[in-house]
Amino acid sequence: MTEPQDTRQEIWLGALCGRQIAEHAFRGLPYEACGVLRGKAAAGGMRIDNFLPMRNVAPDPLHHFILHPEEWTKQCLRGEGLIGLFHSHPHSQPTPSDEDLRQLSLFAGLIRIYLIGSPGESKDAIRLNGYYVVKGADGLYTLEPALIKRG
Ligand SMILES: [Zn+2]
Repeated sequence: MTEPQDTRQEIWLGALCGRQIAEHAFRGLPYEACGVLRGKAAAGGMRIDNFLPMRNVAPDPLHHFILHPEEWTKQCLRGEGLIGLFHSHPHSQPTPSDEDLRQLSLFAGLIRIYLIGSPGESKDAIRLNGYYVVKGADGLYTLEPALIKRG
């Protein structure tokens, strides 16, 4: 028997961006932290070149995130390179919540990838999950698990 092949699309994340994402998530504790990912298409998927931290303006930032509207608009107007969003789940697994999926329609079309991070075992380690934003046959957006490649 052969090993089942991993068919997940890849997301490339450089060491510096990985560290910046983790730092922003830890600095935001106990609240959810969020930010924008910029980059481009690369072999096998998308490559993250830049992470831009954003203020979370949700009224209840313990369990929600809302990107600061002016900062978000500025990123959208910067043109090419906006590829995705990051936010943290300080108190739960780094998997999409029902609200995350509902919110997708607000961003979809603008973003291709979606990262969620949760505090890990050690002090500055973060557990990071990556997803591709895909539009289903029903017209609704959903998240498909991706393979995060470091480097
Ligand atoms: Zn979430």
